[in-house]
Amino acid sequence: MRFLMVGAGLSGAVIGRELAEQGHDVTVMDSRDHIGGNCHTERDTDTGVMVHVYGPHIFHTDDEDVWNYVNRYANFLPYKNRVKATSRGQVFSLPINLHTINQFFGTTLRPDEARRFITEKQADTSIIDPQSFEEQAMRFVGRDLYEAFFKGYTIKQWGCHPSDLPASILKRLPVRFNYDDNYFFHKFQGMPENGYTEMIAGILDHPGITVQLSTTFSRAMVDGFDHVFYSGPLDGYFDYELGRLGYRTLDFERFTYDGDYQGCAVMNYGEEQVPYTRITEHKHFSPWETHQGSVCYREYSRAAEPGDIPYYPIRQVKEKALLGKYVALAETAENVTFVGRLGTYRYLDMDVTIRESLNTAGAVLKAISDGDSLKPFFVSVL
Ligand code: FAD
Ligand code: UDP
Repeated sequence: MRFLMVGAGLSGAVIGRELAEQGHDVTVMDSRDHIGGNCHTERDTDTGVMVHVYGPHIFHTDDEDVWNYVNRYANFLPYKNRVKATSRGQVFSLPINLHTINQFFGTTLRPDEARRFITEKQADTSIIDPQSFEEQAMRFVGRDLYEAFFKGYTIKQWGCHPSDLPASILKRLPVRFNYDDNYFFHKFQGMPENGYTEMIAGILDHPGITVQLSTTFSRAMVDGFDHVFYSGPLDGYFDYELGRLGYRTLDFERFTYDGDYQGCAVMNYGEEQVPYTRITEHKHFSPWETHQGSVCYREYSRAAEPGDIPYYPIRQVKEKALLGKYVALAETAENVTFVGRLGTYRYLDMDVTIRESLNTAGAVLKAISDGDSLKPFFVSVL
Protein backbone atom coordinates (compact mmCIF):
# COMPACT_ATOMS: atom_id res chain seq x y z
CA MET A 1 0.00 0.00 0.00
CA ARG A 2 1.04 3.64 -0.44
CA PHE A 3 1.29 5.82 2.65
CA LEU A 4 2.05 9.50 3.09
CA MET A 5 3.56 10.86 6.31
CA VAL A 6 3.08 14.60 6.62
CA GLY A 7 5.96 15.69 8.84
CA ALA A 8 9.47 14.26 9.09
CA GLY A 9 9.57 14.54 12.89
CA LEU A 10 9.49 11.56 15.24
CA SER A 11 5.85 10.73 14.50
CA GLY A 12 6.25 10.58 10.72
CA ALA A 13 9.59 8.80 10.91
CA VAL A 14 8.56 6.08 13.39
CA ILE A 15 5.20 5.26 11.78
CA GLY A 16 6.79 5.40 8.31
CA ARG A 17 9.59 3.02 9.30
CA GLU A 18 7.22 0.47 10.84
CA LEU A 19 5.10 0.43 7.68
CA ALA A 20 8.11 0.31 5.34
CA GLU A 21 9.52 -2.64 7.31
CA GLN A 22 6.38 -4.57 6.32
CA GLY A 23 6.89 -3.87 2.61
CA HIS A 24 4.72 -0.77 2.21
CA ASP A 25 5.64 2.21 0.10
CA VAL A 26 6.11 5.30 2.28
CA THR A 27 6.58 8.96 1.35
CA VAL A 28 7.60 11.32 4.18
CA MET A 29 7.16 15.01 3.43
CA ASP A 30 8.05 18.11 5.39
CA SER A 31 7.66 21.79 4.68
CA ARG A 32 10.99 22.44 6.43
CA ASP A 33 14.29 21.90 4.65
CA HIS A 34 15.42 19.34 7.21
CA ILE A 35 14.13 16.19 8.90
CA GLY A 36 13.70 15.82 12.68
CA GLY A 37 10.79 18.19 13.37
CA ASN A 38 11.23 20.10 16.62
CA CYS A 39 13.87 17.62 17.81
CA HIS A 40 16.21 18.82 15.04
CA THR A 41 19.85 19.25 16.07
CA GLU A 42 22.72 20.60 13.99
CA ARG A 43 26.37 21.37 14.59
CA ASP A 44 27.27 25.04 14.62
CA THR A 45 29.99 25.43 11.98
CA ASP A 46 32.04 28.01 13.93
CA THR A 47 32.17 26.41 17.37
CA GLY A 48 31.39 22.75 16.56
CA VAL A 49 28.69 22.75 19.25
CA MET A 50 25.64 20.50 18.71
CA VAL A 51 22.69 22.92 18.82
CA HIS A 52 19.12 21.95 19.75
CA VAL A 53 17.67 24.23 17.09
CA TYR A 54 14.05 24.33 18.37
CA GLY A 55 14.90 24.34 22.08
CA PRO A 56 16.46 21.93 24.58
CA HIS A 57 15.55 18.24 24.23
CA ILE A 58 16.47 15.66 26.88
CA PHE A 59 15.43 12.05 26.39
CA HIS A 60 13.82 10.44 29.46
CA THR A 61 11.47 7.48 29.74
CA ASP A 62 10.32 4.53 31.83
CA ASP A 63 9.28 2.67 28.69
CA GLU A 64 11.92 0.02 28.09
CA ASP A 65 10.68 -0.81 24.58
CA VAL A 66 10.98 2.83 23.57
CA TRP A 67 14.43 3.05 25.15
CA ASN A 68 15.53 -0.04 23.18
CA TYR A 69 13.98 1.43 20.04
CA VAL A 70 15.95 4.71 20.20
CA ASN A 71 19.15 2.85 21.08
CA ARG A 72 18.84 0.92 17.81
CA TYR A 73 19.27 4.18 15.87
CA ALA A 74 21.63 6.22 18.05
CA ASN A 75 24.34 5.76 20.62
CA PHE A 76 22.86 7.28 23.77
CA LEU A 77 25.33 8.65 26.32
CA PRO A 78 24.45 9.32 29.96
CA TYR A 79 22.91 12.72 30.49
CA LYS A 80 21.05 13.99 33.55
CA ASN A 81 19.23 17.30 33.33
CA ARG A 82 20.30 19.45 36.29
CA VAL A 83 18.54 22.78 35.98
CA LYS A 84 19.52 25.93 37.85
CA ALA A 85 17.28 28.90 38.54
CA THR A 86 18.18 32.54 39.12
CA SER A 87 15.83 34.42 41.41
CA ARG A 88 16.22 37.32 43.86
CA GLY A 89 19.92 37.71 43.12
CA GLN A 90 20.87 34.09 43.82
CA VAL A 91 21.29 30.86 41.91
CA PHE A 92 19.28 27.88 43.17
CA SER A 93 18.89 24.26 42.21
CA LEU A 94 15.70 22.97 40.54
CA PRO A 95 13.42 21.08 40.85
CA ILE A 96 12.84 22.24 44.42
CA ASN A 97 14.94 19.97 46.61
CA LEU A 98 16.54 20.08 50.04
CA HIS A 99 19.37 22.28 48.77
CA THR A 100 16.88 24.78 47.32
CA ILE A 101 14.88 24.84 50.55
CA ASN A 102 17.91 25.24 52.85
CA GLN A 103 19.49 27.93 50.66
CA PHE A 104 16.24 29.83 50.18
CA PHE A 105 15.28 29.89 53.87
CA GLY A 106 18.89 30.09 55.20
CA THR A 107 18.43 26.82 57.13
CA THR A 108 20.28 23.52 57.62
CA LEU A 109 17.21 21.29 57.78
CA ARG A 110 17.42 17.53 57.43
CA PRO A 111 14.88 15.73 55.19
CA ASP A 112 12.18 15.08 57.82
CA GLU A 113 12.61 18.56 59.32
CA ALA A 114 12.29 20.16 55.89
CA ARG A 115 9.17 18.17 55.10
CA ARG A 116 7.61 19.28 58.40
CA PHE A 117 8.68 22.88 57.83
CA ILE A 118 7.15 23.03 54.35
CA THR A 119 3.97 21.23 55.40
CA GLU A 120 3.40 23.10 58.66
CA LYS A 121 4.88 26.55 58.01
CA GLN A 122 4.69 27.07 54.26
CA ALA A 123 2.03 24.97 52.52
CA ASP A 124 -1.60 26.05 52.50
CA THR A 125 -3.14 22.82 53.75
CA SER A 126 -6.63 24.31 53.63
CA ILE A 127 -6.50 23.55 49.89
CA ILE A 128 -7.71 19.95 49.74
CA ASP A 129 -8.06 19.31 46.02
CA PRO A 130 -5.93 21.83 44.06
CA GLN A 131 -7.47 22.68 40.70
CA SER A 132 -5.26 25.44 39.36
CA PHE A 133 -1.49 25.72 38.98
CA GLU A 134 -1.49 28.36 41.71
CA GLU A 135 -3.46 26.20 44.14
CA GLN A 136 -1.16 23.26 43.45
CA ALA A 137 1.89 25.42 44.25
CA MET A 138 0.32 26.95 47.38
CA ARG A 139 -0.70 23.48 48.59
CA PHE A 140 2.68 21.79 48.12
CA VAL A 141 5.39 24.47 48.52
CA GLY A 142 3.62 27.61 49.79
CA ARG A 143 3.67 31.25 48.75
CA ASP A 144 7.37 32.08 49.24
CA LEU A 145 8.78 29.39 46.96
CA TYR A 146 5.85 29.80 44.54
CA GLU A 147 6.55 33.49 44.10
CA ALA A 148 10.32 33.04 43.72
CA PHE A 149 10.32 30.17 41.24
CA PHE A 150 6.94 29.57 39.64
CA LYS A 151 4.71 32.62 39.48
CA GLY A 152 6.81 34.93 37.25
CA TYR A 153 8.19 32.09 35.12
CA THR A 154 4.71 30.73 34.47
CA ILE A 155 3.22 34.14 33.60
CA LYS A 156 6.05 34.56 31.06
CA GLN A 157 5.77 31.02 29.73
CA TRP A 158 2.00 30.83 29.37
CA GLY A 159 0.95 34.50 29.11
CA CYS A 160 -1.70 34.12 31.80
CA HIS A 161 -1.97 33.99 35.56
CA PRO A 162 -1.21 30.62 37.25
CA SER A 163 -4.72 30.70 38.75
CA ASP A 164 -6.03 30.27 35.17
CA LEU A 165 -3.86 27.22 34.39
CA PRO A 166 -4.54 23.60 35.34
CA ALA A 167 -2.71 22.00 38.28
CA SER A 168 -1.47 19.31 35.88
CA ILE A 169 1.22 21.63 34.44
CA LEU A 170 2.95 21.93 37.82
CA LYS A 171 2.44 18.25 38.65
CA ARG A 172 5.12 17.56 36.02
CA LEU A 173 7.71 18.87 38.52
CA PRO A 174 8.64 17.03 41.74
CA VAL A 175 9.42 18.51 45.18
CA ARG A 176 12.17 16.52 46.86
CA PHE A 177 13.26 16.38 50.49
CA ASN A 178 16.75 15.15 49.64
CA TYR A 179 19.63 16.48 47.53
CA ASP A 180 18.61 14.72 44.30
CA ASP A 181 18.63 17.49 41.68
CA ASN A 182 17.85 15.34 38.64
CA TYR A 183 15.03 17.16 36.82
CA PHE A 184 13.35 13.90 35.79
CA PHE A 185 12.46 10.70 37.68
CA HIS A 186 12.67 8.35 34.73
CA LYS A 187 14.64 5.14 34.74
CA PHE A 188 16.23 5.73 31.32
CA GLN A 189 17.76 9.12 30.55
CA GLY A 190 20.32 10.16 27.98
CA MET A 191 21.37 12.15 24.97
CA PRO A 192 22.10 10.81 21.47
CA GLU A 193 25.85 11.19 20.91
CA ASN A 194 25.49 12.79 17.48
CA GLY A 195 22.16 14.53 17.97
CA TYR A 196 18.51 13.68 17.32
CA THR A 197 18.58 14.46 13.61
CA GLU A 198 21.15 11.73 12.98
CA MET A 199 18.95 9.32 14.96
CA ILE A 200 15.85 10.25 12.93
CA ALA A 201 17.89 9.96 9.69
CA GLY A 202 18.65 6.38 10.78
CA ILE A 203 14.94 5.68 11.32
CA LEU A 204 14.13 7.06 7.85
CA ASP A 205 16.97 5.14 6.19
CA HIS A 206 14.99 2.34 4.58
CA PRO A 207 14.58 1.46 0.87
CA GLY A 208 10.79 1.68 1.20
CA ILE A 209 10.91 5.32 2.39
CA THR A 210 11.20 8.42 0.18
CA VAL A 211 11.75 11.77 1.90
CA GLN A 212 10.59 15.03 0.28
CA LEU A 213 11.76 18.16 2.07
CA SER A 214 10.63 21.76 1.51
CA THR A 215 7.26 20.36 0.43
CA THR A 216 4.05 21.58 2.02
CA PHE A 217 1.08 19.26 2.17
CA SER A 218 -2.24 20.19 0.62
CA ARG A 219 -5.47 18.22 1.03
CA ALA A 220 -5.55 17.40 -2.67
CA MET A 221 -2.54 15.13 -2.05
CA VAL A 222 -4.60 12.66 0.01
CA ASP A 223 -6.05 11.15 -3.18
CA GLY A 224 -2.69 9.82 -4.35
CA PHE A 225 -2.31 7.59 -1.25
CA ASP A 226 -4.14 4.77 0.49
CA HIS A 227 -3.79 6.55 3.81
CA VAL A 228 -2.18 9.71 5.21
CA PHE A 229 -0.63 10.22 8.66
CA TYR A 230 -0.72 13.92 9.38
CA SER A 231 1.55 15.34 12.12
CA GLY A 232 0.97 19.01 11.26
CA PRO A 233 -1.45 21.24 13.22
CA LEU A 234 -4.96 19.77 13.46
CA ASP A 235 -6.66 23.13 12.76
CA GLY A 236 -4.23 23.79 9.89
CA TYR A 237 -5.41 20.64 8.11
CA PHE A 238 -8.89 22.16 7.94
CA ASP A 239 -7.52 25.57 6.87
CA TYR A 240 -8.53 26.98 10.29
CA GLU A 241 -12.15 27.00 9.12
CA LEU A 242 -13.52 26.95 12.70
CA GLY A 243 -10.87 29.33 14.09
CA ARG A 244 -7.37 28.84 15.46
CA LEU A 245 -6.38 26.64 18.38
CA GLY A 246 -4.24 28.61 20.85
CA TYR A 247 -0.50 27.94 20.97
CA ARG A 248 2.50 29.54 22.61
CA THR A 249 5.43 30.12 20.32
CA LEU A 250 9.07 30.70 21.29
CA ASP A 251 11.61 33.25 20.10
CA PHE A 252 15.21 32.17 20.54
CA GLU A 253 17.75 34.99 20.77
CA ARG A 254 20.98 33.30 19.78
CA PHE A 255 24.35 34.54 21.01
CA THR A 256 27.85 33.15 21.19
CA TYR A 257 30.44 33.34 23.92
CA ASP A 258 34.15 32.59 24.08
CA GLY A 259 34.37 30.10 26.97
CA ASP A 260 31.73 28.84 29.40
CA TYR A 261 28.85 31.33 29.62
CA GLN A 262 26.81 29.95 32.54
CA GLY A 263 28.36 26.64 33.59
CA CYS A 264 25.21 24.57 32.99
CA ALA A 265 22.87 23.65 30.14
CA VAL A 266 19.69 25.35 31.40
CA MET A 267 19.32 28.40 33.65
CA ASN A 268 15.72 29.39 34.41
CA TYR A 269 14.73 32.91 35.40
CA GLY A 270 11.91 32.88 37.93
CA GLU A 271 11.22 36.60 38.07
CA GLU A 272 8.65 38.30 35.86
CA GLN A 273 10.78 41.43 35.29
CA VAL A 274 13.44 39.36 33.45
CA PRO A 275 11.76 39.13 30.03
CA TYR A 276 13.06 35.69 29.03
CA THR A 277 12.20 32.40 30.71
CA ARG A 278 15.53 30.64 30.40
CA ILE A 279 18.98 30.56 28.81
CA THR A 280 20.20 27.36 27.21
CA GLU A 281 23.93 26.80 26.68
CA HIS A 282 24.01 24.00 24.15
CA LYS A 283 27.49 22.60 24.63
CA HIS A 284 26.54 21.38 28.10
CA PHE A 285 24.11 18.94 26.48
CA SER A 286 27.19 17.08 25.16
CA PRO A 287 29.42 16.91 28.26
CA TRP A 288 31.64 14.34 26.51
CA GLU A 289 32.72 17.00 23.98
CA THR A 290 35.12 19.92 24.49
CA HIS A 291 34.54 23.27 22.77
CA GLN A 292 36.14 26.62 23.49
CA GLY A 293 33.32 28.59 21.87
CA SER A 294 29.74 28.45 23.09
CA VAL A 295 26.27 28.85 21.54
CA CYS A 296 23.44 30.05 23.78
CA TYR A 297 19.74 30.75 23.35
CA ARG A 298 17.76 33.27 25.36
CA GLU A 299 14.19 31.94 25.22
CA TYR A 300 11.12 34.18 25.09
CA SER A 301 7.56 32.89 25.00
CA ARG A 302 4.54 34.62 23.44
CA ALA A 303 1.15 33.88 21.85
CA ALA A 304 1.55 32.22 18.44
CA GLU A 305 0.33 34.32 15.51
CA PRO A 306 -0.39 32.98 12.00
CA GLY A 307 2.99 32.05 10.48
CA ASP A 308 4.71 31.37 13.83
CA ILE A 309 5.87 27.89 14.79
CA PRO A 310 3.27 26.46 17.19
CA TYR A 311 5.21 25.01 20.16
CA TYR A 312 3.01 24.56 23.24
CA PRO A 313 -0.73 23.77 22.96
CA ILE A 314 -2.47 25.94 25.56
CA ARG A 315 -5.51 23.72 26.20
CA GLN A 316 -7.45 26.10 28.39
CA VAL A 317 -11.24 25.86 28.50
CA LYS A 318 -11.68 28.00 25.35
CA GLU A 319 -9.26 25.85 23.34
CA LYS A 320 -10.82 22.62 24.55
CA ALA A 321 -14.25 23.63 23.21
CA LEU A 322 -12.78 24.38 19.78
CA LEU A 323 -10.65 21.24 19.93
CA GLY A 324 -13.84 19.19 20.36
CA LYS A 325 -15.19 20.61 17.09
CA TYR A 326 -11.97 19.88 15.20
CA VAL A 327 -11.87 16.35 16.61
CA ALA A 328 -15.39 15.81 15.24
CA LEU A 329 -14.16 16.94 11.81
CA ALA A 330 -11.03 14.79 12.08
CA GLU A 331 -13.07 11.71 12.87
CA THR A 332 -14.95 12.06 9.61
CA ALA A 333 -11.94 12.93 7.43
CA GLU A 334 -11.41 10.01 5.07
CA ASN A 335 -8.09 8.20 4.85
CA VAL A 336 -6.33 10.52 7.30
CA THR A 337 -5.02 9.81 10.78
CA PHE A 338 -3.93 12.74 12.95
CA VAL A 339 -0.81 12.01 14.97
CA GLY A 340 1.85 13.61 17.16
CA ARG A 341 2.08 16.75 19.17
CA LEU A 342 0.39 19.05 16.65
CA GLY A 343 -1.98 16.58 15.04
CA THR A 344 -3.51 15.72 18.41
CA TYR A 345 -2.93 19.13 20.06
CA ARG A 346 -1.26 17.74 23.16
CA TYR A 347 1.94 18.24 25.10
CA LEU A 348 3.86 15.06 24.14
CA ASP A 349 7.38 14.19 25.19
CA MET A 350 9.54 12.31 22.71
CA ASP A 351 9.12 8.94 24.41
CA VAL A 352 5.32 9.24 24.40
CA THR A 353 5.41 10.33 20.75
CA ILE A 354 7.39 7.19 19.89
CA ARG A 355 5.15 4.93 21.98
CA GLU A 356 2.00 6.28 20.32
CA SER A 357 3.60 6.03 16.88
CA LEU A 358 4.52 2.38 17.42
CA ASN A 359 0.98 1.67 18.67
CA THR A 360 -0.61 3.46 15.69
CA ALA A 361 1.57 1.60 13.20
CA GLY A 362 0.71 -1.67 14.97
CA ALA A 363 -3.02 -0.94 14.69
CA VAL A 364 -2.70 -0.13 10.99
CA LEU A 365 -0.70 -3.27 10.24
CA LYS A 366 -3.24 -5.37 12.13
CA ALA A 367 -6.12 -3.82 10.18
CA ILE A 368 -4.32 -4.59 6.93
CA SER A 369 -3.64 -8.20 7.89
CA ASP A 370 -7.25 -8.64 9.12
CA GLY A 371 -8.55 -7.20 5.82
CA ASP A 372 -10.27 -4.31 7.66
CA SER A 373 -10.72 -0.88 6.16
CA LEU A 374 -8.18 1.82 7.02
CA LYS A 375 -10.33 4.09 9.16
CA PRO A 376 -8.67 6.96 11.07
CA PHE A 377 -6.63 5.54 13.98
CA PHE A 378 -7.27 8.52 16.16
CA VAL A 379 -6.11 8.57 19.80
CA SER A 380 -8.52 10.18 22.22
CA VAL A 381 -7.35 13.74 22.79
CA LEU A 382 -10.15 15.48 24.65
P1 FAD B 1 7.12 17.74 15.31
O1 FAD B 1 8.50 17.50 15.79
O2 FAD B 1 6.50 19.07 15.57
O3 FAD B 1 7.10 17.44 13.73
C1 FAD B 1 6.03 17.81 12.90
C2 FAD B 1 6.60 18.13 11.54
O4 FAD B 1 5.53 18.34 10.61
C3 FAD B 1 7.44 19.41 11.51
O5 FAD B 1 8.74 19.15 11.02
C4 FAD B 1 6.67 20.34 10.56
O6 FAD B 1 7.52 21.14 9.76
C5 FAD B 1 5.90 19.33 9.70
N1 FAD B 1 4.68 19.91 9.13
C6 FAD B 1 3.69 20.54 9.79
N2 FAD B 1 2.72 20.91 8.91
C7 FAD B 1 3.11 20.51 7.69
C8 FAD B 1 2.54 20.62 6.38
N3 FAD B 1 1.33 21.17 6.17
N4 FAD B 1 3.23 20.10 5.33
C9 FAD B 1 4.45 19.49 5.52
N5 FAD B 1 5.01 19.38 6.75
C10 FAD B 1 4.37 19.87 7.81
N6 FAD B 1 10.38 16.09 24.56
C11 FAD B 1 11.15 15.37 25.41
O7 FAD B 1 10.99 14.15 25.51
N7 FAD B 1 12.15 15.97 26.14
C12 FAD B 1 12.39 17.31 26.08
O8 FAD B 1 13.29 17.81 26.76
C13 FAD B 1 11.58 18.09 25.20
N8 FAD B 1 11.78 19.41 25.12
C14 FAD B 1 11.02 20.14 24.27
C15 FAD B 1 11.24 21.50 24.21
C16 FAD B 1 10.48 22.30 23.36
C17 FAD B 1 10.76 23.78 23.31
C18 FAD B 1 9.46 21.71 22.58
C19 FAD B 1 8.62 22.55 21.67
C20 FAD B 1 9.23 20.34 22.64
C21 FAD B 1 9.99 19.54 23.50
N9 FAD B 1 9.80 18.15 23.57
C22 FAD B 1 10.57 17.42 24.44
C23 FAD B 1 8.77 17.46 22.76
C24 FAD B 1 9.24 16.98 21.39
O9 FAD B 1 9.67 18.09 20.62
C25 FAD B 1 8.08 16.25 20.71
O10 FAD B 1 7.71 15.12 21.45
C26 FAD B 1 8.35 15.79 19.27
O11 FAD B 1 8.99 16.76 18.52
C27 FAD B 1 7.04 15.41 18.61
O12 FAD B 1 7.29 14.93 17.33
P2 FAD B 1 6.20 15.10 16.18
O13 FAD B 1 6.75 14.39 14.98
O14 FAD B 1 4.86 14.71 16.66
O15 FAD B 1 6.10 16.69 15.90
N1 UDP C 1 7.94 26.15 35.79
C1 UDP C 1 8.17 27.29 36.52
N2 UDP C 1 9.47 27.61 36.84
C2 UDP C 1 10.52 26.88 36.43
C3 UDP C 1 10.27 25.72 35.68
C4 UDP C 1 8.97 25.38 35.37
O1 UDP C 1 7.25 28.00 36.88
O2 UDP C 1 11.67 27.27 36.73
C5 UDP C 1 6.54 25.83 35.47
C6 UDP C 1 6.12 26.35 34.07
O3 UDP C 1 4.78 26.77 34.14
C7 UDP C 1 6.27 25.13 33.20
C8 UDP C 1 5.84 24.02 34.16
O4 UDP C 1 6.34 24.42 35.45
O5 UDP C 1 5.46 25.18 32.05
C9 UDP C 1 6.34 22.63 33.83
O6 UDP C 1 7.76 22.64 33.78
P1 UDP C 1 8.54 21.89 32.65
O7 UDP C 1 9.98 21.94 32.95
O8 UDP C 1 7.89 20.56 32.42
O9 UDP C 1 8.30 22.89 31.44
P2 UDP C 1 8.08 22.73 29.89
O10 UDP C 1 8.57 21.38 29.47
O11 UDP C 1 6.61 22.96 29.76
O12 UDP C 1 8.89 23.85 29.31
